[in-house]
Amino acid sequence: MQRARRLSGAWKGLIRKAMQYADIIIDISHERLDRSFQYRIPEELCPSIRIGSVVAVPFGNGARNRQGFVVGLSDEPKLPEEKIRDIVSVNEKKVPVESQLIELAGWMRQHYGGTLTQSLSTVLPVKKKVQRRKIQPREPEAERAEAEKLPRKSDGTNGSLASDDAVPPLNTAQQNAADTFQKDYENGVRKTYLLFGVTGSGKTRVYLEMIGAVLAAGRSVIVLIPEIALTRQNIERFSERFGDRVAVLHSRLSDGERYEVYERAKRGDIRIVLGPRSALFVPFSSIGLIVVDEEHETSYKSEQVPKYHAREVALQRAKMADASVVLGSATPSVDSLLRVKNGEYQMLSLPQRVKERPLPKTTIVDMREELKAGNRSMISSLLREKIAGRLERQEQVLLFLNRRGMAGFVSCRSCGQVIKCPHCDVSLHQHRDGILRCHYCGHNEPQPKTCRSCGSKYIGGFRAGTQSIENLLQKLYPKARILRMDADSTKHKGDHDRILSQFAAHKADILLGTQMIVKGHDFSDVTLVGVLAADLSLHGGDYTGGERTFDLLVQAGGRAGRGERQGEVIVQTYQPDHYAITAAAKADVNGFAERELAYRSLLRYPPVAHILLVQIFSGDPEEGQAAAQEIHAVVAAEKGKKLSVAKPTAGMIAKMKDRYRFAVYIKAAEYDALVGVKDVIEAHTKEEPFAGRFSRTRVFFDFDPLGMF
Ligand code: ADP
Ligand code: ZN
Ligand code: ZN
Repeated sequence: MQRARRLSGAWKGLIRKAMQYADIIIDISHERLDRSFQYRIPEELCPSIRIGSVVAVPFGNGARNRQGFVVGLSDEPKLPEEKIRDIVSVNEKKVPVESQLIELAGWMRQHYGGTLTQSLSTVLPVKKKVQRRKIQPREPEAERAEAEKLPRKSDGTNGSLASDDAVPPLNTAQQNAADTFQKDYENGVRKTYLLFGVTGSGKTRVYLEMIGAVLAAGRSVIVLIPEIALTRQNIERFSERFGDRVAVLHSRLSDGERYEVYERAKRGDIRIVLGPRSALFVPFSSIGLIVVDEEHETSYKSEQVPKYHAREVALQRAKMADASVVLGSATPSVDSLLRVKNGEYQMLSLPQRVKERPLPKTTIVDMREELKAGNRSMISSLLREKIAGRLERQEQVLLFLNRRGMAGFVSCRSCGQVIKCPHCDVSLHQHRDGILRCHYCGHNEPQPKTCRSCGSKYIGGFRAGTQSIENLLQKLYPKARILRMDADSTKHKGDHDRILSQFAAHKADILLGTQMIVKGHDFSDVTLVGVLAADLSLHGGDYTGGERTFDLLVQAGGRAGRGERQGEVIVQTYQPDHYAITAAAKADVNGFAERELAYRSLLRYPPVAHILLVQIFSGDPEEGQAAAQEIHAVVAAEKGKKLSVAKPTAGMIAKMKDRYRFAVYIKAAEYDALVGVKDVIEAHTKEEPFAGRFSRTRVFFDFDPLGMF
């Protein structure tokens, strides 16, 4: 411990120019994170104090000093000078995990904007009373508990299982990937690896080997999985290998249950945590590895402030903990591919499916030709034929409808008017009960009989939601057993698992669904995958349309032919020549990335350059517009810093929940330049006169935004 010498008041002003004060949380009860107290930083302690530092401070009237965590630094006293007390000492040896997490929160605040409290409450678990009696075992957990009852020794090393001989050996590519990692790890080399393995190449097996090596070295592991891929199948593979040292986090856990997992992780009872992006903040004190499975998934980007990308935060947490990172995907993000090219990541590849199973054969069907030939339905004649063949041979079919939101809107055939939500400026959705609903705010109204603008009675819905395709299929194949999986059919807890296990048990012939059927499932009897409306995701409204389409098509194809029989994919599209579609048909990741990166650099889109979206919300349209203009002017004045800023626009959704939305888009080659301009905007908007003039307006930041705003 370093003792601080008290300085006379005269000295203080002379020596330090900035950051004379620290905001300190005394007790991390986590319930009131904004409850910090300001202390003075004695000169000697200045170099060793940063966000996350553990310090000793006098508190209240108590004779003994208390331990506190530094959560903020400033050069402005919040109280009269004489009321501010000094930090007594800083503890540089003991670095509890909380201080790591607080430091991470500080990094997140800096990189993504928002308040420190918002970052802290993202990173630190909120302590709530666990009401044991109320905890219902969740399905996946219940299954796992069952599995764990089997006698099993699990020490995290190879050969820990009774059923060892049932596990086939790694193939050469898997072995090479695992060995490369393990050798590096044992030599103290920490890196980020991109495990690029085609669909069905056995990536999970490789993760398990890597995790085994890290556990054997006494460190813990975080495995990030998109929520939707947290299937029983996936979870079982981890708990089979590592037993009760694995815990699963998912969105259905209560705060209390989540907190309990965190506590067990802190005590070391749990060594591996599996879960979606928030699993990143598990308080393991010594992490050796963070795995980010399906690293290309957009669900890794948080849509709440701070709008962080879990892949980026994983890299940062690993850096702070001296851990390695493994990013895995069959369709790596162009961001990761660019970093491999730049030498930042090391590529490990699994170029073949296990047991040398071939990748499926893909055929592109031009739907414009279908229309010319008089087929107006959503299912081409080729796909019809292929489905019939599968049904005859008792093989299974997956039909994937690109996007739930695409259809179901109601419009007038005479004047073209679409019925929209009065609060949100998006089209209302027609449901079976004849009610029109808004998906953003829940507004609903009965479907009108005549058009409000022209009075025509030719008003109606567009076909091609999952329900209408299900009806069509049932008509075409009266004997087929069809399961439908979309947001409507998975409203209740357990629906998702139930549908998947029914299909896995071959209790249905066709599974029709949206995006959610594409991810990570392993059905060995599926030999045909049909993709309906492949190009809709090309027009999602942002620059990532090509990448999303490529991912979806390759991942959908990845569901075909995972068993003994060869798989086949039919892709229906109105744009058969688009490179995202032609490359996906060949599963040509490198060819796609080359085209896509050329396009991104031409238009200066991420990952080649970076974008900061300043989101402006206002209760008043004129005020919002004026605020957007002022922010634009503030940024334009910073232009020396290699930025470009576009004129403010109304949001693509101009109004939501009665708040008007405006956007200012800023681009820069360097991410840090955008962090700098964010700081400038933040400082400007928090101060007078802006804060007073635009009191009904709020400003948020989104770095490298995805989707539409
Ligand atoms: P991916 O995640 O790359 O799509 P998975 O990890 O799901 O692939 O593996 C696909 C299937 O192959 C799984 O059923 C898995 O148990 C099996 N598998 C993995 N490795 C091997 C291997 N070396 N030999 C035989 N089967 C394997
Ligand atoms: Zn009309
Ligand atoms: Zn609405």
